[in-house]
Amino acid sequence: MKIGAHLLIGKGLNHVFETAERLGCDCFQVFLHNPRGWNRSFRERSEIFSFRKAAKKSMISPVVIHMQYLLNLATSGKEIRLKSMRLLEHEMTESEMMGADYYIIHPGSHRGNGIESGVNLVAEGLKPFCKGKTRILLENTAGQGDSIGRNWEEIGSIIDRLGGNAGICFDTAHAYESGYDISNRISLHAMKDEIEKRFGMGYIQLVHANDSITLKGSNVDRHQHIGEGCIGIKGFENLVKDEWFGELPFIIETPKDNEGDDRRNMEILRKLGEKHGKIRI
Ligand SMILES: [Zn+2]
Repeated sequence: MKIGAHLLIGKGLNHVFETAERLGCDCFQVFLHNPRGWNRSFRERSEIFSFRKAAKKSMISPVVIHMQYLLNLATSGKEIRLKSMRLLEHEMTESEMMGADYYIIHPGSHRGNGIESGVNLVAEGLKPFCKGKTRILLENTAGQGDSIGRNWEEIGSIIDRLGGNAGICFDTAHAYESGYDISNRISLHAMKDEIEKRFGMGYIQLVHANDSITLKGSNVDRHQHIGEGCIGIKGFENLVKDEWFGELPFIIETPKDNEGDDRRNMEILRKLGEKHGKIRI
C-alpha cells in the first residue's frame, strides 16, 4: 500500500517532487492546468525535462495526472466536445512527455442525451489515447445530474468499448455518494462481487481516499477528512484490510482547510496500513 496526496503545483512542475517528499508522500497526483479553465499552457521543454530528471532520482510512484474538470467527452454538444478533445490531446501528450503513470478522467455528463450515447462518445474520444505509456483510469462518480460512471455497469460499458485498454480509479466518496455502502464490510464485499462479475477487480488500479460529508446515495459530491465523514474510520479500515484494495496506492483529495491537513489524513491511512501489515515499517 502506498499513500499520497493531490498536490497543488501553482505555476509549475519544478518543485513537485520536493513538496511530495517533504509531505511524506509515496505517490502523488496533480492537475496540469487550472482545473476550472479551458486554458492550455504550453510548458517549456526544460520544465518537463527537469520533472523527468527529478522523477528518476525519486522513489515516488505512481505519478498521477488528473484531468481538468471542464473536460466533457460524453456530451454531443459540438463546441464542448471539440474543446474537450483538444484539451485531452494536449494533456495526454504532456502526461506522456512527463512519463506519468496514470491519467484520471471523469466520464463526463451526457446532458440529457442518455447513458448509451454518452458511453459511446466517451469511448470514441478516449480510444486514440489508450495505447500509450500513460494509462487512462476512469473514475467512478457520485452520480450528480447526468453524469456517467455512477455504477459499475456504466464504467464497464466504457471499458468494454475500449477493448479493456483502460483501468479504474476507485473514489471512495463517490462510491458512497452514488449508493455503495462501503462503510460496511458486508456491502463492500457485495460491491466487489458486482465488479468481479462485470469486469474484474484487476481493472481497479488506484484509490482516491476521501470520506464523504453527504449521505449514501445522495449523488452529491462533498469530500471530508478521513474518518470524519459518513464512511468513517471503520470503512477505511475495511478497505485497507482488503486483499485487493489494500495493495493499491491511496491518494487523498481531502479538504486543505488548515496547514497540516494532508499530513494528518495520510498519517491516519498509514497507521491503518501498518496495523494490517500493508506497509513495511
Ligand atoms: Zn476523485
